[in-house]
Amino acid sequence: MHLREFQQRIEVIYGPRDRQRGKDGTFRWLVEEVGELARAMRDGDRQAAHVEISDVLAWTVSVASLCGVDVEQAASRYARVCPKCHHTPCGCAPEPRSNRRARRRQTATSSRRLGRGEPPA
Ligand SMILES: [Zn+2]
Repeated sequence: MHLREFQQRIEVIYGPRDRQRGKDGTFRWLVEEVGELARAMRDGDRQAAHVEISDVLAWTVSVASLCGVDVEQAASRYARVCPKCHHTPCGCAPEPRSNRRARRRQTATSSRRLGRGEPPA
């Protein structure tokens, strides 16, 4: 199943409820599912991790739809190379955990500046 097809299926199944719940409420559900995935991983429960990964994917797609993001287009940012260093495998220097948030902010800013990561007009 292609990502666009998956997004369309999630829209058919959950779109009306997602819109009624709204972005904030739907995002909170996504975060809760991420927490459940963390629990499954911590417990080493592979079957639960399988279920939680599918839930995280579905809720991520719901949030994307509410934000007007085409997930297939969004995923294409990672289709060929690391979007930051433009290499495969990624050649970015490993960073300490505490710098991750700053790096993401910086990457988002430089991506905007370079016109990457933005959907075509
Ligand atoms: Zn990289």
